[in-house]
Amino acid sequence: MGKVYVLREPRREREWNIYALREAARLKRWFVGVYYSPRLGRLLAVFKPTPGTHVNTLVFEELGESALRDAYRMECPPGCNRCCVFRSGAFMIENEVRQLPPELQARVMSQPSELVMTPGGPVRVYRLDTESMGRCAFFDVEGGRCELEARLGRHAKPIICLVTYCTVFATRGGRLYLKTGYRPLPGGRALMTYREVGEEEWRAAVRRMGSLWARYRRVYLARKREEEEAAGGA
Ligand code: SF4
Ligand code: SF4
Repeated sequence: MGKVYVLREPRREREWNIYALREAARLKRWFVGVYYSPRLGRLLAVFKPTPGTHVNTLVFEELGESALRDAYRMECPPGCNRCCVFRSGAFMIENEVRQLPPELQARVMSQPSELVMTPGGPVRVYRLDTESMGRCAFFDVEGGRCELEARLGRHAKPIICLVTYCTVFATRGGRLYLKTGYRPLPGGRALMTYREVGEEEWRAAVRRMGSLWARYRRVYLARKREEEEAAGGA
């Protein structure tokens, strides 16, 4: 089995975490997924860069792929969208903005931003959670999808969106699992338990989690209709 790189656990200092995310964003195209290892009691954001790629070992650690053998892969099933709709907290780091086509770069750069003084130098961070209720500016409310992903693929999403999961939904060996328990462990680790479920139970859980988006979408569409009617009658 080969080697993979996993992001070291976040620290208390936001400046460090922004630095780590900037470094991780450099390897976005080699992002594999986020796994929960019951053996290690931790979430692993896994990257598999091609040999010879420079990896910053201050923020990444090397693990044997065998560490993932019993791990659950975190999933974000279509139809939930909770993280994009409500208090998304989404943001994008300057080096990922530069990877976007000019029109999208301009959209991001019109968002509020701040310069964070990280251990690796100043890093500009653009907020994306600027729509009502903290909805992300790139969330397509009607279609229920991330505009960046729909247009350019998964790796165009901000690194923070790639490495952050609710941990409710998981798969392992082609089987579906839902989280049944969580207990914090010393050192910022956690014991999470999962139960295998059938497709119906999985879909019901997605519907439950997605009810927030469904409500938001109804209100959004009603407002949009009113605005269109008002504009038509003007
Ligand atoms: S709550 Fe979970 S499933 Fe829903 S959008 Fe967030 S990560 Fe995805
Ligand atoms: S960038 Fe995409 S995935 Fe991230 S919060 Fe916005 S819509 Fe969701």
